[in-house]
Amino acid sequence: MLDLIIKGGRVVTSEGVAEMDVAIQGERIAALALPGTLEGEVRRTVDARGKVVLPGGIEPHTHIGIPVPETWAGRPEVITQPPEAASRAAAFGGVTTFVDFSGGLSIAPGERPTSDPIMLEVEKRRQAFAGHSYTDFAYHHILAGEVSDATIGEIREAIQSGLASFKIFTTFHSSRVPYGHLMAVFEEVARGGGIMAVHAEDDDLVTYMTEKLKRVGNDQGYNLHLVHSNVSEDLAFRKIIRMAEHAEVAIYFVHTTAKEGVAAIAEARAGGQPVYGEALHNYMEFTSDDYRKPNGTKIHTYPAIKYADDRDALQQGLVDGPICTTATDEYTTNKDVKFWGDTIETVCGGHAGIETRMPVTWAKMVHTGRIGLERFAAITSTNAAKILGMYPQKGAIAVGSDADICIWDPDLRKVLTLDDLHHDGDYSIWEGFECNGYPVMTILRGKVIVEHGRLVGSASDGRWVSRKVASAVLASPIV
Ligand SMILES: [Zn+2]
Repeated sequence: MLDLIIKGGRVVTSEGVAEMDVAIQGERIAALALPGTLEGEVRRTVDARGKVVLPGGIEPHTHIGIPVPETWAGRPEVITQPPEAASRAAAFGGVTTFVDFSGGLSIAPGERPTSDPIMLEVEKRRQAFAGHSYTDFAYHHILAGEVSDATIGEIREAIQSGLASFKIFTTFHSSRVPYGHLMAVFEEVARGGGIMAVHAEDDDLVTYMTEKLKRVGNDQGYNLHLVHSNVSEDLAFRKIIRMAEHAEVAIYFVHTTAKEGVAAIAEARAGGQPVYGEALHNYMEFTSDDYRKPNGTKIHTYPAIKYADDRDALQQGLVDGPICTTATDEYTTNKDVKFWGDTIETVCGGHAGIETRMPVTWAKMVHTGRIGLERFAAITSTNAAKILGMYPQKGAIAVGSDADICIWDPDLRKVLTLDDLHHDGDYSIWEGFECNGYPVMTILRGKVIVEHGRLVGSASDGRWVSRKVASAVLASPIV
């Protein structure tokens, strides 16, 4: 007997979009069939007529349950929202898997990176999330500062243990990995078959502009884009791309923010290099002009939101390729923290995003006619699964894949208020945003976890996902 059939929806698969019935047995997709042709008994049927059936969303970039640096919070012992709250918001937003971080968790000045063995760090995070997540989860591992030979010696084993991706920063004081160390990391990750997630900024330019703006009294938060600038992204992306070409390592640029970054990725890909870009959904909506509004830096995530032509380049990148995924850099705090710092060094990074990423992307890209359903599935789920080594277990509606599904109502119009959202924070930068299409049911490995606006899953449902990147993804830009 089948456990669940989703009937009559427009199903988005790698073959295209078609009206189909989706049969689920246990945790997996058992069959895809023409409407009405599935035979036999079934425990439950979901009527999806008029709806779109998508692979469950994959959010590739979150910071959940970590200490907020005192330089950003104004006080010690502030923690971003815990996994229960973030994964609850994720489930309501059609997301079934998120990728958070293990290792050096703080990115702010003065914080010291940790130095425990890689898999011990991963295990600590797994224990913190196990039993506390409504959705599945994984971690990029952060390597910070000068990376010891001993740590580099652990990389291949970590990849074999299902880690797959490593994150580095090229700026932010103690988090910054010096280029010599970085080259050694790149080479070892390449040998092991992993991928690098890179936060690329030019540290010299960032440091110079920070000091200069302070010196002349222009260090207000609304000038963040002058510190974390277009030229900084241009130089840093190109340097990383050159190093990656020598090391033969694949690159996933987290939060691309500038037209120069998009162009650098596009050029590398045109030359056959496996380089993939990520865009955050706030960068698809706002510009640095919005920083000047009252409490305007609430929209900020590092590096910094730039100009209208950068926003347009990111959107175009999502249409035609170099930008492969959407993410949020999820980092949820309350207003008292987010609004505390108001200078280029003290504005807190991030905000709640995991729930709004798919509806905002739909409104900006699908509702406006810029992309179709297949590209929407690609940039909200499938590409992240492929690049980060979860495909086809995740990111696909296909026989044998995990039955992670988001049922989407393309006609549901909603002007977002804080009451519509399910994170722990007391504000949302998306209040007042008009959505024209919204997730209405979320299924994790065959279990309905959100339906009719209610959470029916359990915080013990989520599991850590072991990952391995396909060699084709590491060899050339296949998505
Ligand atoms: Zn981040």
